[in-house]
Amino acid sequence: MTTRRLDALRTKLSSYRLDALLVTFLPHVRYLTGFSGSNGICIISKTGRVFLTDGRYRLQVREEVRGLRVMVTSDSLLKTAVQKGVFPKRGKIGFESQYLTVAELKNLKKLLPNVRWVPTSGLVESLATVKDNTEIALIKKAVAITDTVFAKLLRIIKPGVRELEVAAEITYLHRMEGAEADAFEPIVASGKRGALPHARASGKKIAGGELVTIDMGGRYQGYHSDLTRTVAVGTPSAKARRIYQVVSDAQQLAIDAAGSGISGKALDAVARTYIKKRGYGKYFNHSLGHGLGLQIHEQPRVSVLSKDTLVSGNVVTIEPGVYIPGVGGVRIEDDVVIRNGYCEVLNTAPKELMIL
Ligand code: ZN
Ligand code: ZN
Repeated sequence: MTTRRLDALRTKLSSYRLDALLVTFLPHVRYLTGFSGSNGICIISKTGRVFLTDGRYRLQVREEVRGLRVMVTSDSLLKTAVQKGVFPKRGKIGFESQYLTVAELKNLKKLLPNVRWVPTSGLVESLATVKDNTEIALIKKAVAITDTVFAKLLRIIKPGVRELEVAAEITYLHRMEGAEADAFEPIVASGKRGALPHARASGKKIAGGELVTIDMGGRYQGYHSDLTRTVAVGTPSAKARRIYQVVSDAQQLAIDAAGSGISGKALDAVARTYIKKRGYGKYFNHSLGHGLGLQIHEQPRVSVLSKDTLVSGNVVTIEPGVYIPGVGGVRIEDDVVIRNGYCEVLNTAPKELMIL
């Protein structure tokens, strides 16, 4: 599996005219090597594929890493790679400019003065954005776990319960259902706090008549899920119902429009235009969605500024929202796989407004 990815990366290297690529960002290292630990790098060149880690992972790499020469060291991984001659001595070596530190780059320049170090961005990510069936199966598993967590979570959402208690339950349930961890810190925002799209859970108690927005995800074998639902605790106001319907309709329109060939910008516009038409345009203040995989936010982007066009095998979220300061907010989010001409919605959590 990783061999196919390494081959694809090698082809990319030639088109970028690079002699080698240093990969230091762990989700990318995992994508290319299978390694799931916390300290590893790989160097892919025209002639070699080398993975380096430290002694803690000696046994683990035997099970996980395939198709690369493995080096285990007790010293710095980069320094060892230089000393063992893993890097070409001259030529152009790419590095991941968003992830290699300034100090590390400075050191590499000193140790290999004849190399031209070339900053790259999105190189591995552009491969990882199209998921194979193995990856889609893992994402489906992560999504199924989160859907189950949501169903079980509903029991504890009631007046008097603090947002933080709900967040704690999300973390607990994810692990009980088989996730490695939360995909990100759960968002629980009730009542007026719902107007903050990325509110962290607080000590606020949920009150009757409020809407509660819950945004959560789990990680399964490195792959993420991302689900948002807004529920009502007790009878919601007419205004809350209206907003809910607008967001729900906008989300469905975007799901109907999603498929290979549509641009991220055009898909964003489907939901945004509808919400605008219904009078809530200025209250939808974030992008419609994002890619999902080994990272919780990755390419392709589904936003006003996106330059990406969706292709079959992308996995993205579709998550419109309306946030009215002083009143509250609604967001509904599903994860979808882009297919030829349509999208497959992975979540099964119900979307009609639930009144708990
Ligand atoms: Zn989310
Ligand atoms: Zn999201």
